[in-house]
Amino acid sequence: MPHAKPPRAISVRFVMLLLAAAVDIGLSSSGRAASDLDRAYRTIAGKKFVDLTHSFAPDTPVWSGFGQARMTPAADPKTREPYTIPKDGFRTTFYEMVGQYGTHVDPPAHFAENGVTMDKIPVKQMILPLVVLDDTRFLAKDPNHAFSVADLMVWEKAHGRVPKGAFAALRTDMYKDWDTNPERFKRSEFPAWSLETVKFLVEKRGVTAIGHESMDTDTTEKMESETYMLQQGHFQIEIMANLDKVPAKGALIVVTWPKVKDGLGFSARAFAILP
Ligand SMILES: [Zn+2]
Repeated sequence: MPHAKPPRAISVRFVMLLLAAAVDIGLSSSGRAASDLDRAYRTIAGKKFVDLTHSFAPDTPVWSGFGQARMTPAADPKTREPYTIPKDGFRTTFYEMVGQYGTHVDPPAHFAENGVTMDKIPVKQMILPLVVLDDTRFLAKDPNHAFSVADLMVWEKAHGRVPKGAFAALRTDMYKDWDTNPERFKRSEFPAWSLETVKFLVEKRGVTAIGHESMDTDTTEKMESETYMLQQGHFQIEIMANLDKVPAKGALIVVTWPKVKDGLGFSARAFAILP
């Protein structure tokens, strides 16, 4: 025989509704922020990511003044016995290398006596809007083309103004030599920035950082653009990869590196999140 609906069930449901309403009214700003962030994460997770970093090894290109890295099995300092998984349950590597090895960050302190070291660069500068300036269209005529302000004006006509706070990366496609022709990768001269462009990007567009595929900022060993950039307090990423797989505008770049105390530069990991 059918039971009449017990009044208790209704009252429980009513209390639940009241609670839900109370939660809704009292929703804190942190609650809303979490939900914005959750939406942002779901958006980002659905996007295509492009790794802008080279793998590096003892035999990969490096400036001759720094020398090749050495990577050996880490050993117990007392016994000098390398750790192995069968013997010790773990293994690890002992690295001997200059900080500026492979794709790397140059913090201001690399070129400026009182510049910011890599541990002090604000983490908010590790995720930025990314613009990719294309130097490759000039390379057939001028293989070591320094990207000029006039070139930048043409780029802005097509893509709009470089946004304030952006990370401006210079595409040259020389990253393709990294694995296949390391000797060519190490050449000097090579395509890179002109000082006037780097100055313009900092002073007129307010970029946060720059990056490029070569081992240096300038097309030659003058180092004037690199000196300017770092002495103005901006970091840069060198030896970037895959910039030909990122659109001119609309992507985000994420760049991270180890937090070495008073660090003057280190291998970095950079990737783009495509629009
Ligand atoms: Zn560097």
